[in-house]
Amino acid sequence: MSLSPATTDYLHRLLIQNLDHFKSADLPNISCQTSLPLDLPTLLQTIASEDKQALALNLEELAFSHQQLATLEPENQYQLAAIEQQIFQLLGFHKPQLREPVILVIDDNPENLYLLKRTLTQGGYDVQVATNGAIALSCLHHIMPDLILLDIMMPDMNGYEVCQRLKADPSFQDIPIIFITVMDEMADRMKAFSSGGVDYITKPFSIQEVLARVTTQIKTRNLQKELQTRNEQLQQEIRARKRAEEEALRALAKEKELSELKSRFISMASHELRTPLTTIQSTVELLEHYQWTEVERLQRLEQIREAVQHMNHLLEDVLLIGKAAVDKVQPKPEWLDVVQFCQDLLAGIQLTIGKYHHIRFSSQADGLSVWLDPKLLRQILYNLLSNAIKYSAEASRVDVILTQWDQQLLLQVRDEGIGIPPEDQERLFEAFHRATNVEAISGTGLGLTIVKQCVDLQSGQITLESTVGHGTLFTVILPLQKAP
Ligand code: ATP
Ligand code: MG
Repeated sequence: MSLSPATTDYLHRLLIQNLDHFKSADLPNISCQTSLPLDLPTLLQTIASEDKQALALNLEELAFSHQQLATLEPENQYQLAAIEQQIFQLLGFHKPQLREPVILVIDDNPENLYLLKRTLTQGGYDVQVATNGAIALSCLHHIMPDLILLDIMMPDMNGYEVCQRLKADPSFQDIPIIFITVMDEMADRMKAFSSGGVDYITKPFSIQEVLARVTTQIKTRNLQKELQTRNEQLQQEIRARKRAEEEALRALAKEKELSELKSRFISMASHELRTPLTTIQSTVELLEHYQWTEVERLQRLEQIREAVQHMNHLLEDVLLIGKAAVDKVQPKPEWLDVVQFCQDLLAGIQLTIGKYHHIRFSSQADGLSVWLDPKLLRQILYNLLSNAIKYSAEASRVDVILTQWDQQLLLQVRDEGIGIPPEDQERLFEAFHRATNVEAISGTGLGLTIVKQCVDLQSGQITLESTVGHGTLFTVILPLQKAP
């Protein structure tokens, strides 16, 4: 028998709460010998059930429904009682009595009250009485009747008013009200129904008629409640299904995205690894099969070194993205003379990849010392600048602009290159994404992903403005934090 600890606990509490309702003869044998509080696990072990697993499953389900309905009380008291009954039966208790329907009679005439109480009690109802509207209203929460028999002519507050007040209160508006009165005019009946009554009995009444009408209303009310519960269950089911559907859709989208990423990675890897590998292979073959002068041999070896370096960079990029994705990169800020830092980096780039471009640096942050991570800053500037160079024509101009503005550092890189089509702009920061207009310009689609991660790691922002055929402007904003 494997009942979850939560269900065991819930059932245990339910049993203890209801213990008073059982006569000792109702209790299963074991509980007579068990001192209180009841030892539920022992009790469960002793129940003679052929299929203990099925019993446990049944109890789990019933406990779950009970818990759900209990939150909607008092509307579901009958369903709750029915579920409790099933639970107690499964636990070996004798059938406990369902709570009798409670009827509240409101009448200022003691004789009527007495007669109705006696008759309805004999009919199997729990009858409570009130001699005027005010008393009835004050004790309603306590009694929570299933039906009200209401006299119309009463001093202070008449029946119509009591009825209207009940119908205006969400806690009581569903309780059926039967008017019971000497007033027999059609207008009186109409007023009774329009103020919210469900039935109308005239005095002097016949006991059988009252019983029959009360029973009919109680049955109708029970059916309504059942319908309401079923409706709520259905709504819950629909909500659960919708949630499951949404989750499935999300999982599907994620899977699609992953598979897209995988195929983009494969196409990038096959392009970007094949070229240096081919270089290495053919150069090694050339070195093997031909006689070379020392200078030529060194040139070939340098080609191999460059190809290996290229692959190494690629691997480093992929690893950096992987690491940052699992939050393993921690910024290590230090004091930097930001203008000097940019100038040094630009000088290096101008000598290598940017030798055919006019790179112009302008700054409104001279002498500014910033508390930033130099490695992250280098990645940002290097990647933006290498893109600006790579995606623009030789001899065209590239601007790097540095501005300090309100505790923020603005870093802008502008080029006059091929631009980025609007439909590609949104996804450029995702790994392996490349714009559709790159044509033969080679690339891995990792640079901007790294830039974005470096910006995010420093709580910054990056935006871009671009026009195809005219150029692109990337703007990075980094908050300037105080050194600890
Ligand atoms: P690498 O990983 O080698 O940098 P990449 O340059 O293709 O390869 P990213 O730097 O991530 O990758 O850039 C992604 C894409 O954004 C590029 O492929 C290109 O389509 C577009 N792009 C980025 N910067 C520019 C730019 N300045 N001008 C035009 N297109 C650009
Ligand atoms: Mg790039």
